[in-house]
Amino acid sequence: MQALDILRASGAKPEHVARAMRVWLSGDELEAAHRSRLAFPATARAALPEVERELEGVARVVAEEACDDGGVRLLVGLADGKSVESVLLPRDGVCVSTQVGCAVGCTFCMTGTHGLARNLSCEELLAQVVLARRRRRVRRVVFMGMGEPAHNLDAVLQAIAYLGVEGEVGHKDLVFSTVGEPRVFERLAANAVKPALALSLHSTDRERREALLPRAPRVDPRELTNSALDYADRTGHPLQLQWTLLAGANDGDDELERLIEWLRGRRVVVNFIPYNPVTGLDHERTSGDRAHAMTRALHAAGITAKLRRSAALEVGAACGQLGGVRNQVPYPVSGPSLGPHPPL
Ligand code: SF4
Repeated sequence: MQALDILRASGAKPEHVARAMRVWLSGDELEAAHRSRLAFPATARAALPEVERELEGVARVVAEEACDDGGVRLLVGLADGKSVESVLLPRDGVCVSTQVGCAVGCTFCMTGTHGLARNLSCEELLAQVVLARRRRRVRRVVFMGMGEPAHNLDAVLQAIAYLGVEGEVGHKDLVFSTVGEPRVFERLAANAVKPALALSLHSTDRERREALLPRAPRVDPRELTNSALDYADRTGHPLQLQWTLLAGANDGDDELERLIEWLRGRRVVVNFIPYNPVTGLDHERTSGDRAHAMTRALHAAGITAKLRRSAALEVGAACGQLGGVRNQVPYPVSGPSLGPHPPL
């Protein structure tokens, strides 16, 4: 990270660099923290204004909109004029984006319709948490916004390491979400900070899954699920198995039967997420009755399952609806604008 390089070049020792990270990740300002309570050595102190400018320039909130359910959509402008979205979640969570756009192209997701523009840097990932913490308490960080975290693995793992130590987020409250890159499981397990894992499965049928997630790795769904369950056993954090409910596409009895066969007795929570409408995408939401019946069927088999209501649905920032542009819904602008944000 450039800001930390400046600090190191000023002669700051590793403990001072870690201290600076703790202050920034808490949402505080470095110089103010120095004046009020945390002394930095003289050489590092002289570099603080430049370090602070560097950190503050990483990202800023261009617009935000609150939803009645406690969710808040933040449009986050980056230094190169691109933008992503973060969502403040009820119960002290924030959902952050890992890429501008996404290459996976899930057929039920707005982000996937734009393709990939670029990866976010570690500081851009962390800045989303800082911006969230300047608005409310954050104790849970889920990497489930725009982008596939496995396609930006080094930066995401570095951000997770900072958040789990200097950021003081519990490791089980850091959630790495993936469509399933096989190398992810080993890399996560080797990390000192081991996050919880969310696997976006969406179908147990190989062909059906490949149609829904056209550019996800071609891995057998059962093999993928087993790898994710093994990681859950190694860490003790239950696997979060994500399943967007699409009428007629992945809500049949065949899917339920396989889920029960694969998951019974394992460390897992199934999250059924009713599809959130996206203009131009050709899907419909599973009926409420069917969604409840599927949830009950898993319960009856002893599998923990939840029917989730996505946060921030009414402001168009629910699961699958993030586009990183400001004109999907009318935003009240807060703070200075970075100028026009081109579509991805
Ligand atoms: S659901 Fe996730 S992986 Fe799929 S296109 Fe959207 S952002 Fe990418």
